[in-house]
Amino acid sequence: MYIHANYNLRQHNTFNIDCIARFFVEIKHASAIPVMRHDPILAALPWQIIGGGSNLLLTKDLDAVVLSCNYDEIKIVKEDELSVWLSVGSGCNWHDLVTYSVNNGWWGLENLALIPGKVGAAPVQNIGAYGAEVQDTITRIQTFDLRDGTRIELRKNECNFGYRDSIFKKELADRVLIHRVTFRLLKQSKANLVHEPLHEAIVNKGLRVDTLTPKDVYDAIIALRTQKIPDPKVLGSAGSFFKNPSISLKHYQHLQETYPDIPGHKQVNGCIKIPAAWLIEQAGWKGKKVGHVGTYQKHALIVVNYGGATGREVIEVSEMIQNDVINMFSISLEKEVVVL
Ligand SMILES: Cc1cc2nc3c(=O)[nH]c(=O)nc-3n(C[C@H](O)[C@H](O)[C@H](O)COP(=O)(O)OP(=O)(O)OC[C@H]3O[C@@H](n4cnc5c(N)ncnc54)[C@H](O)[C@@H]3O)c2cc1C
Repeated sequence: MYIHANYNLRQHNTFNIDCIARFFVEIKHASAIPVMRHDPILAALPWQIIGGGSNLLLTKDLDAVVLSCNYDEIKIVKEDELSVWLSVGSGCNWHDLVTYSVNNGWWGLENLALIPGKVGAAPVQNIGAYGAEVQDTITRIQTFDLRDGTRIELRKNECNFGYRDSIFKKELADRVLIHRVTFRLLKQSKANLVHEPLHEAIVNKGLRVDTLTPKDVYDAIIALRTQKIPDPKVLGSAGSFFKNPSISLKHYQHLQETYPDIPGHKQVNGCIKIPAAWLIEQAGWKGKKVGHVGTYQKHALIVVNYGGATGREVIEVSEMIQNDVINMFSISLEKEVVVL
């Protein structure tokens, strides 16, 4: 275990914001939790788990123990003719896991290539992209209770996965450390091309849809993401800042009278999901900058730190965006990022 006092988290958040943590503790294995609980100084402070800091907005110094678990083992725990089950340590880099899986020819994670962060955070907001969500492959999750280090295992159906949501964002938020995640990957499958721009990219590359490999899809996703999403090492962000909102059919039809081109996708519950990027763009925010903060020129949903921004400045600009969208469309945008 490594304990750093008064530690700057700048290298640990993709918004590249300065923030001092009272303690930053790196552990190799969650079994260190009971040991930490016996330390009177560490035990007296609130604890905050951090992964790669790619879904976090730090708005103040943290008088807390910021806990990072670097356990990154990838283990095959079961295999049959059709599938392979991988149990992966929470500290493993997410994209490295996706690369490992496609290099083995296994299907399931390829659409989620190039998402920053670590494996332990992937179930927290049920990461998703290009028509896939991580819940599609998860079978179980091993966690440790932060109060006493008790091991608790959850099966997929106990995780309450939803759109950018899970039990780890609600009832179990700040209560458990996700330690290992088990994924079931398939040895044979068809590519998931429900996302139209992905389908188009594959066809434009001259690839045949029925003979694709996971690596073909992975390469196409990387090419698409690299064109549209800023590299956090160059321009700080946390990816999509807001969730795509869902509104009632009545509200949608009412908006169509003024905005006939408003895009919307019908959900199973009858509500209509609207791309937040479209709303933000219509409100005049695509590529707009206020001080050090703005939205990305190529993608209105990505709020970026153009250099030297504080977390408070990011919040202020995000609230301006929310106000403009609510005034124009009567739609309230919910933040996807975790604000600390
Ligand atoms: C450029 C860019 C593109 C992105 N694209 C996407 C995308 O396409 N789809 C998508 O869904 N997301 C996307 N994101 C958001 C982000 O990458 C994901 O949410 C990612 O899973 C966060 O991982 P992390 O390790 O950085 O978590 P952090 O940001 O460090 O933490 C996020 C939350 O998870 C909690 N947490 C982290 N690790 C654990 C653990 N082991 N146990 C319990 N709780 C934990 C933290 O306490 C915090 O509440 C993007 C971000 C960026 C910067």
